Amino acid sequence: MKHYLRGLHLALYETLRQGFKPRITQGMRSVEQHEERYRASFALTHNEHGEQACIACMQCSNVCPSHVIEVTAGPKEASPATGKKRGWAADYTLNLQACILCEMCVQVCPTDAIVMVKVQEKPGFSREDLVLTMDKLYANAKARPLAWANGSILREMQDPKREVKP
Ligand code: SF4
Ligand code: SF4
Repeated sequence: MKHYLRGLHLALYETLRQGFKPRITQGMRSVEQHEERYRASFALTHNEHGEQACIACMQCSNVCPSHVIEVTAGPKEASPATGKKRGWAADYTLNLQACILCEMCVQVCPTDAIVMVKVQEKPGFSREDLVLTMDKLYANAKARPLAWANGSILREMQDPKREVKP
């Protein structure tokens, strides 16, 4: 009984002591700062005419090492804005489950259609929740800040003729 009371006393003392100590951990909001080049998810963009930028060339799905991009090409039709015949994507999905965030899909895209965004997707309850549909990808471009690069920027950076500043 004596040991029990002593233990209880020590436990109460420690609880009170810890309760009045200053906080040493940071709240989640304050550690949400990311590096400038942080990238977490994807978006599909529209071009300067407001048309879907994706021309369904399949380069992103062909280069993806994880095979998580599926593009369904629609019929080639003239752009209402320019009159030129071009490809259109009838459907586009990117499955985040096996994506390794290598950014290769962004780098090869000739029209800067697929880009990355700085905000992570919310955790899901099923595998399907991690599949970014075409609607979701277009919504991401409007609702989330885009990451620093697109295909044009990445390709320009890797141009061997580019002047490298010392
Ligand atoms: S970032 Fe890499 S792994 Fe992810 S979809 Fe693009 S090419 Fe595939
Ligand atoms: S997102 Fe870019 S690389 Fe992928 S199919 Fe569309 S135009 Fe081609």
